[in-house]
Amino acid sequence: MKQIRNFSIIAHIDHGKSTLSDRLIQAVDIVSDRDFKDQILDNMDIERERGITIKSQSVCLPYTAKDNKQYFLNLIDTPGHVDFSYEVSRALASCEGAFLLIDASQGVEAQTLANLYMALEHNLEIIPVINKIDLPSADIERVKNQIEEDLGLDPEKAILTSAKTGTGIENILEGAVKYLPPPSGDSTLPLRALIFDSHYDPFRGTIIHVRLFDGTLKAGDTIKLMYNNAFYRVEEVGIFQIIRIPQKKLSAGQVGYIIAGIKTVSDTRCGDTITLKSKPCEGPLPGFKEAKPVVFSSIYPVASDGYEELAVALEKLKLNDASLIYEKDTSAALGFGFRCGFLGLLHLEVVQERLEREYDLSLILTAPSVRYEIIMNDGETLIIDNPALYPDPTMIEKTLEPYIRAGIIVPDRYMGAVMSLCLDRRGINKNYQYLTNNRLEMIFELPLAEIVYDFYDKLKSITQGYGSFDYEIIDYRETDMVKLDILINGEKVDALAQLVHRERSVERGRTACEKLKDEIPRQMFKIAIQGAIGGKIISRSTVSPFRKDVTAKCYGGDISRKRKLLEKQRKGKKRMKMVGKVMIPQSAFLSVLKTD
Ligand code: GDP
Ligand code: MG
Repeated sequence: MKQIRNFSIIAHIDHGKSTLSDRLIQAVDIVSDRDFKDQILDNMDIERERGITIKSQSVCLPYTAKDNKQYFLNLIDTPGHVDFSYEVSRALASCEGAFLLIDASQGVEAQTLANLYMALEHNLEIIPVINKIDLPSADIERVKNQIEEDLGLDPEKAILTSAKTGTGIENILEGAVKYLPPPSGDSTLPLRALIFDSHYDPFRGTIIHVRLFDGTLKAGDTIKLMYNNAFYRVEEVGIFQIIRIPQKKLSAGQVGYIIAGIKTVSDTRCGDTITLKSKPCEGPLPGFKEAKPVVFSSIYPVASDGYEELAVALEKLKLNDASLIYEKDTSAALGFGFRCGFLGLLHLEVVQERLEREYDLSLILTAPSVRYEIIMNDGETLIIDNPALYPDPTMIEKTLEPYIRAGIIVPDRYMGAVMSLCLDRRGINKNYQYLTNNRLEMIFELPLAEIVYDFYDKLKSITQGYGSFDYEIIDYRETDMVKLDILINGEKVDALAQLVHRERSVERGRTACEKLKDEIPRQMFKIAIQGAIGGKIISRSTVSPFRKDVTAKCYGGDISRKRKLLEKQRKGKKRMKMVGKVMIPQSAFLSVLKTD
């Protein structure tokens, strides 16, 4: 155990975590050059394309240190987005230390701070790393200053690296050996292993990613998953070195995987504890929470016969993503589909993209909503995450909505812009402090509903990319919501309804009608779009009809041109849904939430 180190690299997005992980993996030669590809730990297409990590991964790096001893350095890679902060917390709970990576030209940002706080909560030993020192704009002294002032860490300990050129990589490996504590724990005690992630393999079933705290585990043992009280016989244990390397056993302190023929994903919950049936431990490891979805949206197939396909795809996707929840849903406008719960907007986008790519589906998603608590006159409490199900307002005593605490870091010249953005989103400024002489951390409390859609994009654009943002959900507060209905040619379209704050309702109704007017393509007849609250029309817009046939301009002569035009139209139609006589494109369902 003295020869093991378990650590993670934490960083604000784009500060170089994936690149640095690549260099560490290459430095210990566990993957041949032929098999190596960039961002090797991000193996999903979406992760590579978007440059984000969605699933936790671990890799065991064998390293012979300067003291001539062989060490096993377990690098646990964590997702870099607030949507997955619970997964991150379980991965950090599996570590004794962390390298806190900071871009030498950007300095400390909001996620750097949020990550640091989380690492401190888990009592991790933290080593600062200043990366991208090869950049001409690198300002090492300034970042050292921030490390001391903003983070309260010792800047003298900082390791300087360039993940691009390879400078300083050896110092990271050596630093892990020298400065991070080895795991504690006792192999002779009953097994206690923490699940920090899992994924599904079509041939082997669920592969559970674990950190052993006490005890040992080998093939043939019967394990108990404590939360669900489920028992399975272990087929194989091993470690990850990009590929799975089977081992005779895993012992206290180690990080690895378990295969036990598990087909039901709900049995392997992130944060649960695994012990042995024959010799159970006294109690589970602390910190288990059930994944709670916070953003909800309905998903419908574009093809009216696509429901079965969608059902199968969701079931399969769920095997790899235990935090996705869904149930059957129907809409008068869109037919059969599913109401889904997500950890956040990024999670929603990832699920949508995976369904469309990996299962080749064409989908309509309704505008995301948060979950409201509605207390009725008769004392009953309703939990509503679908505006279409909003009850008769005269029966409502009060409505509560979720609030977040947001930390925003910006250069101080953007203070006014950020302030007006947040106040416009019903935010309350709780505090601000100067981190360094021209950078501010501003703390706001905001309704979650106001940030789920385009808040982050807005923040980025008003701060020219300099603003960074992190948040956590704090509580539910009383609010005054009304349901905004959208009527298309006089018919209510349930899937376009949204809950809006009363004060902003007229304005929101107006923008929703304008947005829809831009999104809905012209057709042979006039299309009237109306916004209504409680039966009263508050806004309207019109899509005027075509003057003539679209193909008319081909003069009937050029057949191939005519066909091309029709094909182009058909492609465009793939993502449109007929609602009554009107074709509504997929993008329209999301556009109703746009604010300008
Ligand atoms: P992550 O989001 O933290 O995983 O960041 P990535 O590893 O994806 O890096 C973000 C960008 O910074 C990529 O374009 C990298 O090529 C680049 N990058 C990473 N490390 C360095 C470095 O040391 N020097 C320079 N110049 N660029 C780097
Ligand atoms: Mg990355």
